[in-house]
Amino acid sequence: MRIIVDTDKCEGHNRCYSLAPDLIDVDDYGYASAIGDGNVPPELADAARLAVDNCPEYAISIEE
Ligand code: SF4
Repeated sequence: MRIIVDTDKCEGHNRCYSLAPDLIDVDDYGYASAIGDGNVPPELADAARLAVDNCPEYAISIEE
């Protein structure tokens, strides 16, 4: 599983970071990006789905 952040859609709400800080990093302005290559270890799969479901801009997706 891989988590992907569409930086064009991200509005910097920071929600994803608070829900999945091991998968997503944010810059000084709150804009998000996936950590590393976005690989999601099995134990973080629920956190990844939570981040997808809670992004108000639909900027996060998961590639199975
Ligand atoms: S929740 Fe969505 S819009 Fe907000 S920082 Fe994360 S990716 Fe960007």
